[in-house]
Amino acid sequence: MNPLIVASRGKGAWNATKRAGTIVRRYGPTSKRMERSLTRYVQVLVNHEVQATFPFTASALERNRSVVQRLAVHHVEFAVHGYHHVDHKALSAEEQAAHLTKAAELFTTRGVNPTGFRSPYLRWNDHTIAAIEQAGFEYDSSEAIAWDVVDKHATERYERVLDFYGARSAADTPCVPRRAGNLIRIPYCLPDDEALADRLDFEDLGQRDRVWIEILSETHRRGELFTLGLHPERFGQLEQALVETLRAAKDLVPTVWIARLDEIARWWKARTESTITVDEPSPGVFKIRIDGPDGVTPLTRNIERIASEPPGGADRRARDVELLVSSPVRPFVGVSHRSPKAVPTFLREQGYIVEEVEHGRAHGSFIDRPQFDASHERDLLAELERHESPLVWLGRWPNGAQSALSITGDIDALTLWDYIGRFKRG
Ligand SMILES: [Zn+2]
Repeated sequence: MNPLIVASRGKGAWNATKRAGTIVRRYGPTSKRMERSLTRYVQVLVNHEVQATFPFTASALERNRSVVQRLAVHHVEFAVHGYHHVDHKALSAEEQAAHLTKAAELFTTRGVNPTGFRSPYLRWNDHTIAAIEQAGFEYDSSEAIAWDVVDKHATERYERVLDFYGARSAADTPCVPRRAGNLIRIPYCLPDDEALADRLDFEDLGQRDRVWIEILSETHRRGELFTLGLHPERFGQLEQALVETLRAAKDLVPTVWIARLDEIARWWKARTESTITVDEPSPGVFKIRIDGPDGVTPLTRNIERIASEPPGGADRRARDVELLVSSPVRPFVGVSHRSPKAVPTFLREQGYIVEEVEHGRAHGSFIDRPQFDASHERDLLAELERHESPLVWLGRWPNGAQSALSITGDIDALTLWDYIGRFKRG
């Protein structure tokens, strides 16, 4: 994403020279400053034992191969941020396919094997998604979700950019990855660095620097994902906010899984492809076998486990991938036949063990929703969480982590030449 264009862009074409001049004033004319910022960014991540994802335009990579090689030793992930930093919605399907294929090829020839993509300006359409799949990427991280944590500080500038990004509200959209065919779609969270620094009004910097901690705590409470966006060029401004967020994430219990986007995509794919087999060897006794990736964690609620382990609380964590439990009802989610397919699909992706049934008499949790679309997702999850009935399901994140955090920093350009090149083509 390029914060500068978004910040200053009108509906029509912009003046390349003038905009490039703005960048010179704001960021300095040499690549040294940007490189120093990026190096410092990675150093702070290394100090906190965190790995991050840096979406990079292919054209900037072409000119800055040594930077990539230098950072690769720190296990940084480089994703593709377009061939050039352009609005993909303004490109035809064929142009998008050509840009993405060419970008993937260039990364590969430069020794980087990219598995993910983030659209410049978070702007995408169905052709973008088709082009991403066609170019062989495993994930896309272009879909924006806005957290409602800045009400008091909101401005028209912020509302405008939410609209420009096509951001959805976390109030009704669970902030978790989604399967879309072979692709995993990983949301990008707002406010990001650009919104915090330029679009929202704060009385003091302390207030601003606490916003990410609020998102972290919301995602932790709901078991979701916080994809934090901090462009390297703004690292100096928001270093403190990042450090405090990382510290807070490490202190949270149950744990927060801090991972790169490629790790999150692979986990989500593998976890949602887990096979679950249920037997009822005797009435009220259920044997649940989970064949999934390392780290897959069954969770239980209000259930008696037939095992030699000491008893736990109402929401305790199970440790095996084979469980033997005793329950007066089937401890899974029954979904009525008249609910559309989107209901069981969504619930299975969230880790629930779903059985499609005629009626709910055998199940502690029964969902009957003839009307269902994306706007009902959060409400559906809340309904299941309200139930007190015995339940076994799979945790969304590995090894019993409660939520996930991913640090990402789009590199639109590294040198002044990259910036100018980007605007000329934009
Ligand atoms: Zn960008």
